[in-house]
Amino acid sequence: MMKLIRLTIFSLLFSISGLNAQSRVQITDPTATEVWSPVPRKVTPGEGTAAPSDAIVLFDGKSTDEWTHADGSSVKWTLDSQGAMTVTPKTGDIKTKRTFGDVQLHLEFRTPVVVKGEGQGRGNSGVFLQGIYEVQLLDSYNNRTYSNGQAAAIYKQSMPLVNACRPPGEWQTYDIVYKAPKFNKDGIKMESARITVIHNGVLVQNNTEILGTTPYIGLPENKAHGNGPIILQDHGDLLSFRNIWIREL
Ligand code: MG
Repeated sequence: MMKLIRLTIFSLLFSISGLNAQSRVQITDPTATEVWSPVPRKVTPGEGTAAPSDAIVLFDGKSTDEWTHADGSSVKWTLDSQGAMTVTPKTGDIKTKRTFGDVQLHLEFRTPVVVKGEGQGRGNSGVFLQGIYEVQLLDSYNNRTYSNGQAAAIYKQSMPLVNACRPPGEWQTYDIVYKAPKFNKDGIKMESARITVIHNGVLVQNNTEILGTTPYIGLPENKAHGNGPIILQDHGDLLSFRNIWIREL
C-alpha cells in the first residue's frame, strides 16, 4: 500500500514537472523518497588491490591458464617466483580466452628496470579492450613522445590528463572502467565506447569517448563487433604484469 502511495506521489511529481515549483505536490514524509528495492548485492572487497569477491582473476601470479596467444597456443611469456609475468619478445601478444563487454579492469605492470630506447621504443606494451581499443602502456617517466601516445593515452586519440608514471622498475596500476560501444542491427555505431582510467591512483582518462580503432597509422574506424578479449601487447620490451582481475558490468 505504501509502495502504491509513493508511486502515485512520484508519478504526480513527474507529470506536473512542467509547472512552477510552488504548484508541485509538497512531500513532507522523508520516507516517500526512500528506495528499498532492489537491494544491491554484496561484494567482499579485496585487501588493498586484491580482487573483490565477484571478480574474475585473469592472472594471480601463478597461472597463465586464462590466456593464450593469437594462434591458440599456450603463453610463452615467462613467470617468475615473485608472481610476475614478463613479455618474451617476439612470442606475440597474449589475449584472454574469455571475451568481455563492459568491464572494470585492474592490472599491475612494471616497465623494464634496464632503460633502453627512446620515445615509443622505451617500455612499450598496451592493454586492448575488446581486443581493439588500446590503452597505451609505456615508460613515460622522463621519456618524451607524442602526447597522445604516452602512457595511459587512448592510443593516437586521447592524451592522459596528467603524467602519473612511476620510475622504471616500480610496480604501477591501471584501474579501468570501460563501456563498450553500441551498434545497431545494420552495423552502424549508435554509441561510442567510453573509458575511465586511473593510473597509480590518479585520474588520467575521465569518461573519455573512444572514437574507434586505435591504429598506428590512420584514423579511427568503426566496424560493428561484439564482446572481445583483453589483449596484452608484445611490443618487444620486457614489461612485467601481475595481479590482473576483471569485473563484468
Ligand atoms: Mg603500445
